[in-house]
Formats: sequence, structure tokens, C-alpha cells
Amino acid sequence: MNIEQQINALRNELREHNYNYYVLDNPTISDFDFDKKLEQLQQLELAHPQFFDPNSPTQRVGGEVTKNFKTVRHEFRMYSLDNSYSKEELAEWENRVRKIVDGQLEYTCELKYDGASISLTYENGKLVQALTRGDGFQGDDVTANVKTIKSVPLQLKGDYPSKFEIRGEIVLPFEGFEKMNRERLELGEEAYRNPRNTASGSLKLQDSAEVAKRPLECLLYSLKGNNLDVRTQFESLVKAREWGFKVPPEAMLCKDMDAVLEYVNYWDTARHDLPYETDGVVIKVNDLQQQEELGYTAKAPRWAIAYKFKAETALTTLHKITYQVGRTGAITPVANLEPVELAGTIVKRASLHNADQIEKLDIREGDRVFVEKGGEIIPKIIGVELSSRLSGSKPTEYITHCPECGTTLERKVGEAQHYCPNDKGCPPQIIGRIQHFISRKAMDVEGLGGETVALLVNNGLISNYADLYTLEMSQILPLERMAEKSAENLIRGIEESKKIPFDRVLFALGIRYVGETVAKKLAKHFKTLDALMEATIEDLTHVDEIGERIAESVVEFFNSEDNRDIVSKLRSHGVQLEISAELLAGQTEKLAGNTFVVSGVFTSVTRDDLKKLIERNGGKVSGSISGKTGFVVAGENMGPSKRTKAESLGIPIISEDDFMQMIS
Ligand code: AMP
Ligand code: ZN
Repeated sequence: MNIEQQINALRNELREHNYNYYVLDNPTISDFDFDKKLEQLQQLELAHPQFFDPNSPTQRVGGEVTKNFKTVRHEFRMYSLDNSYSKEELAEWENRVRKIVDGQLEYTCELKYDGASISLTYENGKLVQALTRGDGFQGDDVTANVKTIKSVPLQLKGDYPSKFEIRGEIVLPFEGFEKMNRERLELGEEAYRNPRNTASGSLKLQDSAEVAKRPLECLLYSLKGNNLDVRTQFESLVKAREWGFKVPPEAMLCKDMDAVLEYVNYWDTARHDLPYETDGVVIKVNDLQQQEELGYTAKAPRWAIAYKFKAETALTTLHKITYQVGRTGAITPVANLEPVELAGTIVKRASLHNADQIEKLDIREGDRVFVEKGGEIIPKIIGVELSSRLSGSKPTEYITHCPECGTTLERKVGEAQHYCPNDKGCPPQIIGRIQHFISRKAMDVEGLGGETVALLVNNGLISNYADLYTLEMSQILPLERMAEKSAENLIRGIEESKKIPFDRVLFALGIRYVGETVAKKLAKHFKTLDALMEATIEDLTHVDEIGERIAESVVEFFNSEDNRDIVSKLRSHGVQLEISAELLAGQTEKLAGNTFVVSGVFTSVTRDDLKKLIERNGGKVSGSISGKTGFVVAGENMGPSKRTKAESLGIPIISEDDFMQMIS
């Protein structure tokens, strides 16, 4: 096998594994072996960029950044759907249909997936474009982002038409949604409200590498095109499945309206066991010829209708409203309920969001309340049964003081949440901040866990994260359950954390809105904590992707004398407050604006180091030669086709020595 055949064989094999894993949910290879093969392919592609393919399985990780999404006209308009809410309305719809078409009627029933609609265009089996619905006439081109979704095939299989569109829904399964929220809460960020908004928000992220990290799925249900050689909706689903698309298995062909109603009844409860949110059934006239006869109204097809499920609600008693204080001081009101079954689970608590929500619904302790489980993971209270309100009940007075430390709460204009401003003295805030500081993605202090932090704080041994660095064996040994060995580990873990690089230290500080990614960006831009501390809001918002909100929060953090004091203690203990000297030393802008392609074997440096050198000096590295390439750095055994391509485009080919001259 020559290299090209080898690359193609690997790509095909990986595609098949992707398909088994993400479309069929039935992997036939271990993750480890998959990763090894993917790495092998990456290396081959890197060494032989002439075989670059934008639809290779290696391109799933994203990386392309879109500043403004291009607006593109839909070749076939993306209609909305008419809704119905009762069996009667469904019967009326069928009557309307019967007036227009003659003959036997069959229906394809599908679930209505709650996500963001998408239209994918394939040409010669390759994904060429992905558009959002937009206003139905034109949508945004989100191709780079959609390519990172593993269940979207980049290359089709079987006997597919040369050109067509396929439509469906990008959804975020509950499991992934909850995981994302856990991570956000850890960062002191607000949780996402529901999977649907998060899915559509994800499609509009500028950085496709960020999208690649989100566990999105793409479910497809409709083909559009000319001369597709399919006769019915159901047949089109079967075909799309054969071509490699993830077509939900819940779709069913129904012979008549009775069968449709049975389907609706069944899924009304069974849908709660599905991994993603559904909010109804879509009933489609099966025969495409009949669909054509029926046509469209101004906004929706006449040949389809959505039946909307009622969101499940339960009626129960609200015993007490309690208030939680988060790491950032944010107060969350929680409804403690008489346990009640809802959508298959026992619910004891519901979120009340904030003071406005309580006031708007006039929710009071002792009330009988309606609890709903919709797209939100935590159930919410949607109303009060006023008729059963106890006489003498009084409106809820939102707390004015922190339940943990008694400080008067604050609320910023335009913000929904109340905050406890006593960040220095409020126990859950103090403990929460230190817990964040030592967490795995921050300072990763081995030998120290969240409970021990609480113990240390409650025993008065520490009151901020800088205090960790002054802890001594003699102080911690007397603590409950603290053996000599674990005390040693703890002290060693803290000592080791002094080697953690600056960007993670910055994340560990727990500045509101400064998550891992933002911390990296700030560290890279400002290079030292001193520079960051001096930055104004203007300086900050000039950094790529740093907005007002983050900028204000950073400035506010360093305006606090206490924070500056803690930072200077960290400094005196030897925590990394600037990017490492080697990195700093190497940084220049000598190659700014130039893109390099590296090819062949080098003598004085490895390929990887050569690439690092390019980047450190402000240049860009690309895998393949194009009109945008500035220079090709050629080592020994540079591929002949690369040379030809560079020559034909008139791109200078330079040697390793020439390159070293450029940066010296
Ligand atoms: P609406 O936005 O309420 O007008 O409903 C129309 C939308 O339902 C479409 O744009 C699709 O995004 C979505 N939808 C979800 N599941 C289906 C399905 N099985 N068939 C058609 N549309 C669906
Ligand atoms: Zn407090």
C-alpha cells in the first residue's frame, strides 16, 4: 500500500468506527485503540499534507474561528410547523387533508426533538454546508461548527444522490447538559437554563474547537432535493439511515389515525426515558406525491402537524423557602417541597431562581404549588393554587441578610441575583473559594480535599488560599482523622502546587467569569500578573474575546485591597505569577503575519520544536501549502509533490539555516 492508500484506508476505518459509536451507539473497538488509529492518521496527514481532506475524521476537533457567520439563502425554504394540542384538533387536521387529497392516507409519526434546526447540504457524498433555520428564507452558515459534531457524517456511504439537503435537529442530551452545568457552577458561572437554548447557542460560538467539546448530537428527519428517487417520507428515513445519518429509531409508519393516536399516547410517557428533550409528535402525510398536492400555507406545510405534549406538572405543598450561598456569594432561593412524583422521579426541591420570580408568582410558604419538569433539569414552580391558600398566609419577604453570615445582601442594577458582599467573612464563600483554588483544573493540590478545606477553615487555621502556604505539620496533626502520613501528603501537595503555571494560577484565583479559557487568554496576553493588575477596562476589552462583563470583574477583583494582599502573599510564597521565563524569553513578533509550512526532517531541531519556534516568534504554522503560505521550511526528504506545489505557486522554499537566520 502506498501512503495515499494507507491514509484512505485509515480514514474509512475511522469513519466506520465513528458511525458505530455515534450513530449506532454500538462501538466495536476500544476508545484507546480508536485514539491510537486517529493519532496514526494525524501523523500521516501531517507528514503528507498533499493528501489533506477537510472531511477527514481528524478534522472533527475544530479550530476554525468564525467572526461573523455568513448569511446564506435556503434553496428550499425551512418552514415552521402548525401545532395542535388535543385529539380533536388532530381529527380536524385530518379532515382538512382529506378534502384536498384523494385515496389512501398513511402517516409517518416522528418525535419532535427540542433543539436547533439545521439544514445540511451534501455534494458527492461530502458535507459542504450547514445552515441554521434563521428566518426560514435565509440562515447562518455554521459549517465549521457542525463539522465537529461526531454524529454528522462528513463522508456518506452507500448509494446516495449526488446532491441533496437533509434537515434535522441539533440537540444536547441531558447527560451532557448536566455535565456542562456542573462544570459551570464550579466556575461560579450561572447554569444554563435548558438544553435547547444551549444547543442553539453552541452553534453560534465563534471558536469551533469550543463547539467540539460540547456533547451535541444531530438527529435527522427530512430530505430535500430534486430527483431524489424516494416516494415516501418513511422511505426517505430508511435511505438516510443507510447513507450513514443518525435518523431517530422512534419514527413509525402508521396506517391510519388510530395508529397515530396510539403512537401519541405511547410516547407521551415513554419519552421521559429518552436521552434528550422532546416536546411533541410530528405527524406527516407519508406519500410525497400527496404532500406536493397539499402544499404549504404562508408559514407551514399542510401535510404535517405537530402534536404538543403537555409538560408534566404535579401539585404539592411548599413547606419552606431556604437560601443557598455560592462561592461567589450569589444567593439562590430553593423551595423545599412535600416529596411528589414527577415524570418518573421523586421531587423534593425546586429552584425559585430569584426574588423577582417569587414576587411575580406570589409564592408563599405553606402554599399548594404546581411543579413542572420541562427542559430544565431542576424542576421549577410555575404557579400557586390560590384557592387552597391558607387564610392568614403572608407574602414572602425575601431575605435581606445572608443566611450564613448575617451581612446585608446587595443587588446590582440589572442583575437578578442577590449577593452576599462579605466575601472575606462568609463561611461558604471562604470555603468555596479555597476549594476552587485547590481543585484539579486549578492548582491541583494533591492530598487535600474539599472536606479538609472546610475543616481547616472551621478550625481557624486558614481563612484564604494564601494561608495554605503557611500551614505546618504541628497545626494539622491535631485535626480529626488526620494521620501523620496524610498530613505529610497535604504539606507536600501544597508545596508542589508552586510549580503550577501562571494561567492556571489565574484561573485558581476565582475571579468571577474568569474560567479556564479566559484565564489562558489573559495569561497569554498580559504575561504577568502585575501587568494584568494594572490593566484598565479598556486594555482588557481590547483582548480578543474579552467582553465588558469579564473586564469589569477583573478590575473589581484587583481593586480590592484584600485581594491584592492575598496575591502578594502568594507571590512571597513563590507561586507562579507570570508565564515561565523560557516562554517569555522566546517571545517575539519577528514572524508576525507570516504563515509557514514545515516539511521534511531537520538536523538542529525536531519538527515540533521548529513549529514552536515559529509560533513563539509570532508566525503561524499550517499543514498544507496554499496561496496564503508565506514560506515553506524544507528539511531533508521533503515530499516532491509539496515542492512542485510550492514552486507552482511561487512560494519561497527556505532551509533550516535560512529560518534560523530569520529569527536570530
Ligand atoms: P416550530 O419551531 O414550533 O414551528 O416547529 C418546527 C420545528 O420543529 C422545525 O423547524 C424543526 O426544527 C422542529 N422539529 C423537531 N422534530 C421534528 C421532526 N421530527 N420533523 C419536523 N420538524 C421537527
Ligand atoms: Zn454571607
